[in-house]
Amino acid sequence: MTIKNILKTPERVPRLGEMKYRDSKGIFMNESMISAKNEYMKEAIKEAYQGIEQKHGGPFGAVIVKDGKIVGRGHNSVLIKNDPTCHGEIEAIRNACSNLKTYDLSGCELYTTGEPCPMCLYASLWAKIDKVYYGCTIADNSMIGFRDEEMDKLGTGREQLGDFLECIDRDACLDLFHYYKEMEHTIY
Ligand SMILES: [Zn+2]
Repeated sequence: MTIKNILKTPERVPRLGEMKYRDSKGIFMNESMISAKNEYMKEAIKEAYQGIEQKHGGPFGAVIVKDGKIVGRGHNSVLIKNDPTCHGEIEAIRNACSNLKTYDLSGCELYTTGEPCPMCLYASLWAKIDKVYYGCTIADNSMIGFRDEEMDKLGTGREQLGDFLECIDRDACLDLFHYYKEMEHTIY
């Protein structure tokens, strides 16, 4: 490879298989050690680890699933994009809509590492997503320094949504949150 070619090589972005994760006890682990039982939540967690390792934003990853297939994914990119609306769920909704060429995500499920904030909750409803599975709770989001709880007190009516929201794999997502809490990061 000539020097000219080397200079042209874009900045390398690590791939998932090459990344090393660390759990809440500080133990380095690979992706097979992420403890989520649900395969889609596992993907959302991987998405979140990718985001925080690259300093894109908070530990929030999301995937959107239709007919058993992942049709969209994203992680919090508030810091890298200088855009406070780039939460993981919003990024995944935009990605799924772009991939499926539609604004209507009926028949889709969203998996996210943290309980959706009011903005993401309503974006999911606007997108007509069937169901949202989340790992960590709003209180957990506050535990690592985010303002979800104080915003939620304004009243989102989430308790009226019945089984639209369901908590799964919280422990696996808490490992992620603890990892984030211990690493050097910017709070916004
Ligand atoms: Zn949000």
